[in-house]
This record gives sequence, structure tokens and C-alpha cells, in this order.
Amino acid sequence: MKFSEDSNEAAKFLRLAVPKMVQHGIVPNPLNYTLWYSYFSNSSPSLNTALDGAVKRYGTCPTDIGEALFLEHITETDETTQSTNKIQQALVHLVTDLSSNITETVIQTNQFSNALKENLDDIKKSELCDELAKKINDLSDNAYGMCNVNDAFQTQLETAQSEIDTLKKELEESKIQATTDSLTGLNNRRALESIYNEYSKSESNVSIVMMDIDQFKLFNDTHGHVMGDQILQFVGKLLKQECPSNITPVRFGGEEFALLCSAVSLDNVAGIAESIRQKLEKVSFSNRRTGSKIDPVTASFGIAVKNTSELLEQLVDRADRALYKAKNDGRNQVQIAE
Ligand code: GH3
Ligand code: MG
Ligand code: MG
Repeated sequence: MKFSEDSNEAAKFLRLAVPKMVQHGIVPNPLNYTLWYSYFSNSSPSLNTALDGAVKRYGTCPTDIGEALFLEHITETDETTQSTNKIQQALVHLVTDLSSNITETVIQTNQFSNALKENLDDIKKSELCDELAKKINDLSDNAYGMCNVNDAFQTQLETAQSEIDTLKKELEESKIQATTDSLTGLNNRRALESIYNEYSKSESNVSIVMMDIDQFKLFNDTHGHVMGDQILQFVGKLLKQECPSNITPVRFGGEEFALLCSAVSLDNVAGIAESIRQKLEKVSFSNRRTGSKIDPVTASFGIAVKNTSELLEQLVDRADRALYKAKNDGRNQVQIAE
């Protein structure tokens, strides 16, 4: 299913959808908004027929039917997910707008209704004919009725708003989780590409440092995997501490890390890599369980400066080759790619 890219048109469909949902007592959740948005965008005639059928039969669209229709007509591709996010954003704006309009309307209608009531009391006191008093009473009841409908609509909008807010927060959290390495708390490899693109957009001076812990297999074999994990956590902390804000450390995978640098001269990048290397080789560890001392670990580094329009993969490849050279030349050193 395709969604409109035009925000005016999207807002128009939502403006039609919201009152319809209120009218039929449809729970204002994102799934239902998407269904009724689609209904008014007329993008799937068979969905419209099914929704019309449900409303005719049940007076509303029951949750299980709504879910089944969503799965059948809406859930398809990644494109849909992106578009759904767009709809959610449009919804946040729309609901905020509507919500303040309705608050205003409720206040005004209440004032109007109270004024009518006062008028009615006055009229009663002045003993007007019964028929006129009854008519005015009806008017007042109608005004109260309108207030109640508005109140209910307002409550539903507020619920929708808070559901959307929660959903947005969950979405943000899951995005953060998906791009964070759980062991070290650094960005993971999935985040690398977007950081690289971000840096490349605004800055021509981009470089990468590939860092690989030396003989880490041997370390694990000697001291155990749990101790190995603690070393990785320590390296993560060290990188966070040593990298200025325009250098982003990433856990590339296993015992490999990458530092993405923006607007840092090659000399400075090499200086920072060398400083990290020296700090790491000086730290000795101890096994908390046995109390035994553990010699420092070391790491090797390869640096490559981005060429014009070079892809991330190519840049990493060149930095990797410099890293292999560092390994071959005896490890615990920094090498710069040609
Ligand atoms: P080199 O100096 O050539 O890099 O040798 P190396 O032993 O570090 O390299 P190799 O690729 O042979 O081994 C990498 C080791 O890193 C093997 C693996 O057990 C360890 N490793 C990878 N990920 C983790 C992890 O999450 N935790 C622990 N404890 N070890 C890991
Ligand atoms: Mg490795
Ligand atoms: Mg290694």
C-alpha cells in the first residue's frame, strides 16, 4: 500500500478520519488511524468495502477485525514502515492542533451554555409562557449535550496523543538499542554507516582508525572469556574517555573497534591513536575472583583518510590493510594507510 507524500493531503485524510473514528467509537490507536487514513485516501477499495461492511454490521470496527484488515491491507514492506512513521508524525501535529481547537470550543460552548442557563432562570422568574420556557430549556440541554460530546472527543484525542507519544518514545528507544553495543555501550557496526554519512555530508576531512586488540584469543584462552569481556568493557570506557566529540568510537565487532573522525587532521588522529595505544599498554588488570595480576593488553591501529567520494567499505578496507601491516610489523603500533 502506498501513502501520500503530500503533507497537506495526508492531513486532509486524517481530518476526515478522526471524526469518523469518534462517530463509530473506534479506539484511537495508531493501527486504527492508519486503517481509517487509508480508508479516506481511497488507496485500497477492498479495504473500504471491508470497513464499510464491519461498521454496517457491528456499528463500529471491532479490534480483531481491525487487526486482520491491517495485516491484510497495510502490512507489506519497509516502505510501509517508513510511511507509517510519517503518518505518526502527521498525527502528532494534527492531534495537537485539534486538541487545542477543541479545548477552545469546549470553553466557549460551556460559556454559551451557562449563559443560556442564566437566561433561562431569568425567563422563568419573569413567568413567560410555558412553551417558550420549554424551548429555551431544550436549547440549553442541546448546548450541554454539545459540551459533553466535545469533552468525550477531547478525552479521546488526549488518549491518542499520549499513545502516540509513548509509541514515539518506544521507537526512539528501539532505534538506540539497535545501534548500541550492549557490552561496551558504544555505537555498534549498524550505526557506522549513518555516522559516516553524517560526517561526510558536512565535512570533507573524514578519517577512520581501525583498532584490534592483540592476541586476544590467547588472552581468552589464558584468563577466560569473562575476563576477556571485562577487557572489552575497559577498552570501550577508554575510547569514550579519549575521543573528543568529533571522533566517534564504535565497536566494529569482536575485539575490533573503529574511530570515525570528522574535521581532525591526520597528525591529530595519529596522535590520539598513539595516545590510546600508550595508555592501554600501561594498564594492568587483576582477576577479581583469584586476585592474580594480569599483564596489560595491547592493540594495533590502522588509519585511513577518506578520499573524495570514497565509500565506507573502501575506507575501512584501506584502514584494515594498514592494521594488518601493524600486526605483521610486530603489533602494538599505529600505521597509516598509503
Ligand atoms: P591478532 O593479534 O592477530 O588480532 O590475534 P587475535 O587473537 O586477537 O585475533 P583472532 O582473530 O585470532 O581472535 C580474536 C579473538 O577475540 C577470538 C575471540 O574469542 C575473541 N573475542 C571476540 N569477541 C569477543 C567477546 O565479545 N568477548 C570475548 N571475551 N572475546 C571475544
Ligand atoms: Mg580481529
Ligand atoms: Mg585481535
